Amino acid sequence: MNNSAIFLGTSHGDPTLTRFCSSTLYRFGDCTILVDAGEPVTGLLVRENIQPSSLDAVFLTHMHIDHVGGLPALVHYIMKYPAEDGQTELLFPEESAVADFKNWMNAAKAYIRQEKFFYTGLTPDFVWNRKGVKVSCIPTEHVKSINAPSYAFLLETEHCRVLHTGDLTADFHDFPEIDPEKPLDLCVCEATHVGYRLEAFLERIAKFPIKQFVFNHIGPLWTDGKEKILEDAVSGLPFPVLVARDGSKLEF
Ligand SMILES: [Zn+2]
Ligand SMILES: [Zn+2]
Repeated sequence: MNNSAIFLGTSHGDPTLTRFCSSTLYRFGDCTILVDAGEPVTGLLVRENIQPSSLDAVFLTHMHIDHVGGLPALVHYIMKYPAEDGQTELLFPEESAVADFKNWMNAAKAYIRQEKFFYTGLTPDFVWNRKGVKVSCIPTEHVKSINAPSYAFLLETEHCRVLHTGDLTADFHDFPEIDPEKPLDLCVCEATHVGYRLEAFLERIAKFPIKQFVFNHIGPLWTDGKEKILEDAVSGLPFPVLVARDGSKLEF
């Protein structure tokens, strides 16, 4: 099974001169999963020659606009240019967000072709299983202060394990524990909130069994030509680290 990732949008809360908001595409064989749908995800998929209707699932880590702002346009595009068969599952961090999203689409007078979509409100024990890919939810505390849920995701196949952290807290106490017996082929971690105490963060992750590490969701300290500052800071880690740019691609 060939596995790959495309870092479509890699910015933190706001778009910048060189980065759009968060969206990451994972391919595990013929299973295609989008994690987060920051603006302008539809256009970025089309530019990569990827049909939005080919998405098996869209997982949303949390409902901050930089992670979901592109979802209405994405759903509209899939509706307009649907696949002949197959469904795209939209997985929201809580059940109430499903109804709120449908209301937004109603406000836009966008008729949703229900047979093309399947909606899920995530819970901590939810496990997704399709086409040989299993996705588990790991609760984080990024938006705990406003009583909202947020998740990291563990994406697994028989031969491969990927952790996608989503946004964390500034002291990164919610960075998921990694089983030392089960190495990660890929760890994709946000670089905005953990960046407030970067040295301590690097010390914490250095001990984990990680084959390849990627920073996305790049904060203002390291974007738009300042990436080398972060690249230099992480050069001592015992595994390769990529500071993702929009359009960065990776096989794993
Ligand atoms: Zn964010
Ligand atoms: Zn956020």
